[in-house]
Amino acid sequence: TWNQVPLAPPDSIFKLTAAFKADTYPQKINLGVGAYRDNDSKPWILPVVKKATEILLHDPALDHEYLPITGLPDFTSAAAKLILGPDSNALKTNRVTSVQTISGTGANHLGALFLSRFYGWNGEKRIYLSDPTWANHHAIFKNVGIDPVSYPYYDPKTVGLDFNGFISALQSAPTRSVFLLHACAHNPTGVDPTTEQWDKIAEAILEKGHYAFFDCAYQGFASGDLDRDASAVRYFEQKGVPMLICQSFAKNAGLYGERVGALHVIAPAKETSDRVKSQLSVLQRSEISNPPSHGARLVSLILNDAGLFEEWKRDIATMAHRIIAMRKELFTILTEELKTPGNWDHIVNQIGMFSYTGLNTDQSKALVEKAHIYLTNNGRISMAGLNTHNLRYFAESLDKVVRG
Ligand code: PMP
Repeated sequence: TWNQVPLAPPDSIFKLTAAFKADTYPQKINLGVGAYRDNDSKPWILPVVKKATEILLHDPALDHEYLPITGLPDFTSAAAKLILGPDSNALKTNRVTSVQTISGTGANHLGALFLSRFYGWNGEKRIYLSDPTWANHHAIFKNVGIDPVSYPYYDPKTVGLDFNGFISALQSAPTRSVFLLHACAHNPTGVDPTTEQWDKIAEAILEKGHYAFFDCAYQGFASGDLDRDASAVRYFEQKGVPMLICQSFAKNAGLYGERVGALHVIAPAKETSDRVKSQLSVLQRSEISNPPSHGARLVSLILNDAGLFEEWKRDIATMAHRIIAMRKELFTILTEELKTPGNWDHIVNQIGMFSYTGLNTDQSKALVEKAHIYLTNNGRISMAGLNTHNLRYFAESLDKVVRG
């Protein structure tokens, strides 16, 4: 038994992390990891999360019973309000079904499974994914029998958005196609559409009757402002675009390992929403039965307490602004001090944890091999890996590989 099982290739990010750990060079830098680090390269437990943990620890009413199948109600309702906003028409008219999931990955999976079963496909089951996208998107949709196809997104010539390519893909896809959209801080490029471009994207989606599958893994973490990072999702909801949202609290609450997330499906009417909820419950039951309680309790406490919520916003701003400061400083060193050849505007124009530097495969490999700076071959760096201690070494090494 199992002799016929082929060996799967290792995940490239985990492979990179292992190589980084094994490296004994003192100035080594890990820019592969998709998790926040403080200015000393350490994981950061948000002070508000520490406080909420203390409160839970001393709550005599808590036990280890199962949560409801669709999750902790105080968590899911507050999470829906957080992404859709207090003025959401869908929320006011009870058209949102919210289910607690195993972080953002679980939300993507449950959303994909639900679509696979119930979307009412006219023909082949297909999901349009941005080129490139978070690599896991491909696997998640394939797992439930939905074929991933790519739409143009990143333009290497401008290190920016291929807006015309994107719009043409929306216009030429068969009616009622499903498009996955990154709500903010596109992973891996860091390239987001502008407000005006989102407007045009929504228009094209409505014209063709497409469905928006929003993946929101970085609300607040991108700009430092929860509302600003939710603006595309809220705008689409206002416009009446048919949609669902996958929400993760891994990054913005630093709760990576706790697996806190939610799936929100918006229906055209409350009655439809009730049916959607019944089917999502059936699917969830067979997948995980009941979602985990600890992380959801933490986030629920933070979202439902005005004082803790304000504190959370400050913690989010701390993370986002440190990253934004690194972008600015990197840009300044490259353009003003080192006068590195090429245009580096994208370093400050891109948003969120990741940045496509524009480095090619050879240059990316050279950084790993010659400078002990670990990044993926596509030239993507995690800005969270940069800090005031290693920024200059990184900038100088980057400058060297660009000059060849
Ligand atoms: N979607 C995107 C685009 C992501 O970048 C991530 C995190 N890497 C996720 C979803 C989900 O992460 P998690 O399951 O840890 O919430």
